Amino acid sequence: MPLRATLLPLLLPAVVVATLVALLDGPKEVFAAALVALAGSLMSLGMSRGTLQRQLDLLARHTRERAEGGPPAPPGVPERLDEVAGLEGAIDSLHAQLSARNVALTQEARTLTAVLDGMTEGVWVTDAEGTVVRHNDALRPLLASTSSALTGQRPLALIRNEALHDAVMRACREAASSHLELTLDGHFPRTLSIRVTPLAKDLPGSAAVFHDVTELRRLEKVRKDFVANVSHELRTPITAIRGYAETLQGGALNDPVMAPKMVEIIHRQSERLSELVEDLLELSRLESREVSLKLARVTLADAAARAADTVRPKAEGKGQLISLHVPPDLLAEGDPRAVEQVLLNLLDNAVKYTPAGGQVDVYGACEQGRCVVRVKDTGVGIEARHQSRIFERFYRVDKGRSRDMGGTGLGLAIVKHLLQAMDGEVKVESEPNEGSTFTIFLPLAASSSAATG
Ligand code: ADP
Repeated sequence: MPLRATLLPLLLPAVVVATLVALLDGPKEVFAAALVALAGSLMSLGMSRGTLQRQLDLLARHTRERAEGGPPAPPGVPERLDEVAGLEGAIDSLHAQLSARNVALTQEARTLTAVLDGMTEGVWVTDAEGTVVRHNDALRPLLASTSSALTGQRPLALIRNEALHDAVMRACREAASSHLELTLDGHFPRTLSIRVTPLAKDLPGSAAVFHDVTELRRLEKVRKDFVANVSHELRTPITAIRGYAETLQGGALNDPVMAPKMVEIIHRQSERLSELVEDLLELSRLESREVSLKLARVTLADAAARAADTVRPKAEGKGQLISLHVPPDLLAEGDPRAVEQVLLNLLDNAVKYTPAGGQVDVYGACEQGRCVVRVKDTGVGIEARHQSRIFERFYRVDKGRSRDMGGTGLGLAIVKHLLQAMDGEVKVESEPNEGSTFTIFLPLAASSSAATG
């Protein structure tokens, strides 16, 4: 048989094996040697073309079956040459290596996906051209994107921001990392802190991590506003006290008419200052949960009566009537001192913001398994647009009027926090020039007979 005709059929499996070896980066010498040995043996055996063809068919079939997930070659098949069996064994070990590597790769890919999808930060990965090729679950809600697929998109198509686009391109082309913060407008504006980094030296492309810092920035603003507000609130009485004290020092002390008036103002302002500091401390204790409220059964009629007694002199001074309608058996679960403080703040406001001759009523009831107390006045009322904000620290509808009335702007914030700490809440209903009703809700004490009757 001519040598060419014998070697030609060897070419096919040789190419298959060589390709596999190349793919797997396996031990090339083993296969080269096996192939040479096989060819040598076949030729030295002086095999007929038909026999050679059968051996090669066997080898080709086995290779195909293994590639399709078939079992390893059984030992001791009589018609199989030892050399072919050796080659089949090498293919089996290649197959085993390939399978193990596949399992490891699949495992790694699944772990990576689980980690990415478990993150609260959004992540996208781009190719060398800056096109998104992969992203995690958290990214879509962060971008509030309406587009159906994020992959295959350019950064500019997902977020209209040149700085982000530039950062991605710099990471892809110059391997430069950058950090930027941007605010997305829309229904729910959000602030994103974004870190863009190149992938790796031998892996072109970039990765970006999106962190939603909206709440963080809001809290920072609240803190800054609070500090500014406190400084402003403290400065007002301090400026008055210093001004009048200096005027007295400058000779007014000897003025028998002005001196007592100025001393009176200094006294009033220092009281205001101390109220402000007290309220601030109370709020800060509540917010840092330093005060541990002691829950007990609170007879709401008694708490309302004590609070009313405190503000009655002021109400009577304005010709106002305070009437209480709280059933004596209405028992809430709360801290007695805190409940009284809540009612006192609400009654104090009702008297403060109700003109002379007005009426303040306190109603108590058990509704849907909760204690409800309503403090209703016939005062100036609150426009709807202010109603949700009056529980914020220092928020006042009318700054001038509140200060004239001696308010610190913290009373309702304290009410809200105290109630929250007792598992309760406060609501307001109001009509300008008609009056306001502040309603508080508290858990019903277990043994309250109002619960059943
Ligand atoms: P202030 O010390 O200014 O009274 P609060 O926190 O107690 O502070 O109340 C916040 C603002 O809510 C007040 O400045 C006032 O504008 C409004 N407000 C509170 N209670 C009443 C009420 N009963 N009637 C009308 N407005 C009220």
